[in-house]
Amino acid sequence: METYDALLDSITPASGPTRTIKDPATGETVGQAPAHSVADLEAAISAAAAAQPAWAALSHEARTEMLLKAAEAIDRSAEELAILLSREQGKPLNGPNARFEVGACSAWLRAAATTVLEPETVADDGETFAQVHYRPIGVVGAIGPWNWPMMITIWQIAPALRMGNAVVVKPSEYTPLSVLALVHVLNQELPDGLLTAVCGDGEVGSRMVEHEAIGKIMFTGSTATGKAIIKSSADSIKRLTLELGGNDAGIVLPDADPKAIAEGLFWGAFINTGQTCAALKRLYVHEDIYDEVCEALTAVAEAMPMGVGLDEANVLGPLQNKAQFDIVARLVDAAKESGARVLIGGNPDADQVGYFYPTTLIADVDNKNPLVAEEQFGPALPIIRYSTVDEAIAMANDLEVGLGASVWSSDVDAARKVASRIEAGTVWINKHGAVDPRVPFGGIKQSGYGLEFGVEGLKGVAVPQVING
Ligand code: NAD
Repeated sequence: METYDALLDSITPASGPTRTIKDPATGETVGQAPAHSVADLEAAISAAAAAQPAWAALSHEARTEMLLKAAEAIDRSAEELAILLSREQGKPLNGPNARFEVGACSAWLRAAATTVLEPETVADDGETFAQVHYRPIGVVGAIGPWNWPMMITIWQIAPALRMGNAVVVKPSEYTPLSVLALVHVLNQELPDGLLTAVCGDGEVGSRMVEHEAIGKIMFTGSTATGKAIIKSSADSIKRLTLELGGNDAGIVLPDADPKAIAEGLFWGAFINTGQTCAALKRLYVHEDIYDEVCEALTAVAEAMPMGVGLDEANVLGPLQNKAQFDIVARLVDAAKESGARVLIGGNPDADQVGYFYPTTLIADVDNKNPLVAEEQFGPALPIIRYSTVDEAIAMANDLEVGLGASVWSSDVDAARKVASRIEAGTVWINKHGAVDPRVPFGGIKQSGYGLEFGVEGLKGVAVPQVING
């Protein structure tokens, strides 16, 4: 276990160019991140390629044992990692935030380490004996966003390491320290060179995607960057898992109990202050219970404290960066200008320090309004009234993205029938955004392709090989 200062020191570059990372809640300097060059990227890829064969040659059991030790290392440094994550990303320590995220890292690493993927026998009839085996790819590149920097890094690297690959990680330029610290802690237990973080912007990411020595890119980020990655990976025919943007719909059926679902709806939308890919971003409520749902949701929202992450009382934090603050402000202003009704929020303090946008609920908004149609990725939820379930489903399916969705009802069978008609990779019933390391997760439409987690997730970081005979 290291103190917070020792952890920060261990990831602070002794020389070379750096980038100053500021706390989005206070503007204070959190630390210095290296500004790595293409030469640094080359060195990391070479080290990964050199370390990978010996790692792949270990038995699954031996890799499992080392990865479980790495999960223990996360647990040992959990509080220091959570403080750094809170300061850099902005998310509070408490609530489903920094401590929760670090806890999820060790849980997901343990789950990936212990998930078994046996060869699959696909024909065995006396004449033909054919099995599908899953072999390591080699070096995997992992490119991540700034909203859940540690957890998403673990989602990408844990199955990749489990399957015998080496990994080079390219964290978001907004949250490199969290990922560097996580990688540093994991490397207390892993062989040298197997896992490296290279810090830089989209240019470094792009070079990684083009690199011939990388066999697969695990990418989580915006749909626009996903499209750029598809293009720049074409020459090397790279394998891709793309977890891209979403704009998740929730449909509340007329038989739902507004008070009973209000808290679930709130956290479905406002987890990580709304900066979550599979968060509820458009809420469709039947006209019979529209006013009650608005009232119950407002009561929950009023009770949730927002502020500096290290204050133990807070459960909501700032937007991570100015660009995201401006997107949320623009979209809420568009809704207000259209005549939509503000139930709470929508009025950021112009003189404040930090990128805090107040918890915002907007009622009586048109489905075509930009606050509904665009991914706002912040603490603002538009609530749209509907009359028939067919109309609600049509509005939910109207966009080009399809990551998650949810249906809320007292009748689970009725909710499942509605769920089957929604175009999304996951449809939750009476909850939203609940992920589980055993359950595959991924988007459809322009939210991407490929699955993470569970056995499907392991297959995604392996190459299938058929042995026939
Ligand atoms: P982003 O696309 O701007 O950046 C993501 C990463 O890609 C960063 O590390 C960035 O440096 C890198 N990058 C930028 N240009 C690149 C290029 N040309 N080639 C290679 N890498 C490049 O996304 P963001 O703003 O950091 O994250 C927010 C977005 O991520 C939202 O749209 C959100 O919905 C999405 N997201 C999706 C999931 C999911 O599981 N589907 C999870 C979290 C976030």
